[in-house]
Order: sequence, then C-alpha cells, then structure tokens
Amino acid sequence: MTFNPASRVQDFLVFGEFGDVNPSITDSSTYTFLSPERMAELFEHEIEGCFLYSRHFNPTNKYLASALERMEDGESAQVMASGMGAISTTLLTLCSAGDEIVCGRSIYGGTYALLKNLLPRFGITTRFVDICKHDAVRAAMTPRTRVLYCESLSNPLLEVSDLPALAAIAHDSGARLVVDNTFTPMILSPLRHGADVVVHSLTKFINGTSDCVAGCVISSRDFIARLNDINSGPSMLLGPVLDSTRAASILKNLHSLHIRLRQHGANALYLATRLEALGYPVHYPGLTSHPHHSLLGRLMNPGYGWGGMMALDVGDHATANRLMTLLQRDKVGYLAVSLGYFKTLFTTPGHSTSSEIPLAERAAAGLSDGLIRFSIGLDEDVVQTMARIEICLAEADVRPTGR
Ligand code: PLP
Repeated sequence: MTFNPASRVQDFLVFGEFGDVNPSITDSSTYTFLSPERMAELFEHEIEGCFLYSRHFNPTNKYLASALERMEDGESAQVMASGMGAISTTLLTLCSAGDEIVCGRSIYGGTYALLKNLLPRFGITTRFVDICKHDAVRAAMTPRTRVLYCESLSNPLLEVSDLPALAAIAHDSGARLVVDNTFTPMILSPLRHGADVVVHSLTKFINGTSDCVAGCVISSRDFIARLNDINSGPSMLLGPVLDSTRAASILKNLHSLHIRLRQHGANALYLATRLEALGYPVHYPGLTSHPHHSLLGRLMNPGYGWGGMMALDVGDHATANRLMTLLQRDKVGYLAVSLGYFKTLFTTPGHSTSSEIPLAERAAAGLSDGLIRFSIGLDEDVVQTMARIEICLAEADVRPTGR
C-alpha cells in the first residue's frame, strides 16, 4: 500500500494551551510535581503527559518528535541539537567496547570522522565498504557487528542504498540497520523497508531555511527509551538537547516540506537533464542513466520527486573553484556547505564536507577532486538559472565530456 508521509504530518494536529494553532513554546527547563511520590515514579518509568526536566524531554520537543515519528512511520522519536548528536547517541546506544560497525564508504565526512577517529577511542571499530556491493557488505559482518550503517542516498555521490537487501544482511548477522535519511525525507521511508533506526540532520531539507542546526532519531519505543534512559541513555547523559524555540520553528517548517521537495526535485531534474544533454558528467538519481534510478523508483514514495541533490564532475579542483566563483557571481546560488536551503548551495566535497576522508579512500569511492555537489534551490525561473549556469561553464572553460 502506498505510504504518504505528508498526509501523516498533516494529520498531526496539536491544540495549544489557549487553542493556539501553533502550540505554546515550552519556556522551562524543569517541571513541577503535585507530590514527591509522583516525581519518584517518573524517575522509575515514563508517564504519558508528564515531564521532568528538559534534557530528557519537554512538550515542544515532544511535538516535533511526534510529527517526525509519524512522517517516518516509527513508534517513537527523539529530537537533538544536531544531526551529529543524533548519529553519535544512536551508535553509542547500540555499541559498546569491543563491538563493530560496518559502514558505507561514501558518507558525510563528519560521520566518517566519528567512526574512524573518535569511536575507536571507546573500543568501537568500523569497517568501511562499498554499500552497493552486497557480497562485500556481507563479508565485512562478524559476530561482533552490531550496526550496519548507511545513508539512504549517499553523500556526495548520490548512490542509492538497497534498504530491503541491507536490512536482510544486517538481520541475518544479528545487527541493526541504521539509515541516515537526511537527503531523502518523505521520498524514502527506511523503517518501512526494514531499517531499525532512522536518523536525520534536521538542519537540511526538513527545516529548509538554513537558520539552525538540529537532528532526530526515529525508531521503536524500546530503542528511544534506551536512548533516553535516565541512568544509561546516551541522549540523556551526553545531553545534545534541542532548544524548544528551535523545535517549534522546525515543526512549522516541516508542514511545508512536501511542497518544497517537489520544487527542489523538479528544478534538479530539469538542470540535470539539460546538463546531461549538453554532455556534462552529472550524477542525479532522477536521470534514467543513473545506475540506481530504477532501484530508487522502486523504493521511493510517489509524489515528492527525486530529491534536490545533484553532483557535477568538472575534472579537477582548480576548474571547480573557477566555476563555483562564477556561479556565485551570477547569482546561481551560494558557495557554501550544507543543503536543503531554499537557495542553491554548492561546494566541492573533496575540499569541504568529505575532506575528513583520506584521498585514497575518496579515489576508491569515485569521489573526484573536481566533483561539485549542488543542493538545488526553489528557483521560480529554473530556465534562467540554466542559462546562467551555461554562461559560467563556458567562461570557466568547462568542456563537455560527451558522457
Ligand atoms: N548526515 C548528513 C548526510 C549530513 O550531510 C550532515 C551534515 O552535513 C550530517 C548528517 C550532520 O548533521 P548536523 O550538521 O546537523 O550535525
């Protein structure tokens, strides 16, 4: 049956304290109890509608978490101060010293650095694999593997993870499949394809206005309870709490996500199609030439487009720098990291968001020094945008390779 994340979010209706259409924002770190016994009870287990302290949960954060839980068809969710907060606390909930993680090698550089440099200090080690080669993924799993980790659409190469196949591999080995769905909110619903935990950087498409950093974890009731456990939960004890004023503004933006995704996707498809027709090597999963086009077509929820992320390989770093400077001059967008903003953003991942990944590993993954990652904006006149891009390509002397 078709799943419709946008109507799940639409049906999330909250009446504020005074009937406000936007629920009142919680402006308290702590909450009163009518009796000491009730407080003691809350330390033992969660009580629906009762709040203790904002590092654990507060009503505004709970509203946002509930909406995201509905969007992803999960049982429960927690919101965090950043996507990295969501990823790190999830992995620390699932892994202890001596445990292993198997992870796709084409991932966000911050996640790579966490797995490669920080977690080994706590005895948790990671094998990086080509997530599209399922035999290699299976071969990397050992009895100590607790987590198979991937991005639904990888950063920055835009490879599509075959979620049902990866879930089967993880579960056969007694591991959990954790999916970073930051690039494809609403487009993909990983929990419905067998994933156990979904994480997002809310900083990106879900918020959409590049004015804050936030994250979330969606999973089973049991997993979120472990994440938040007062005595041992990494979220509770490491404390990456989202401020409730931010949670309130992200919740408002979430309600227009489906409309924004359609425009991001339509613009990206138009630009990728034109660039490909001109002979430029462009990566976009909405193109029939993309190796994972039909896989994504099978897995995606219909009606939200193919996503707003596109990559263009211009060969070398100097050419990429020349082109990006001209694109910013001609108001195509901003030379900036991050994504999901209403304006186009572009950057060379090899020298920014993926620079944590060693050169040899980037080369093995096919991440060239001249790869420019674009997060395509909500431009009203994308034909004019394409005309500007063509002028910049000519001036930067980027020649079509006739792929
Ligand atoms: N996951 C992906 C795919 C990202 O691109 C990023 C940030 O760029 C993150 C996670 C980390 O999110 P945050 O910057 O909100 O901590």
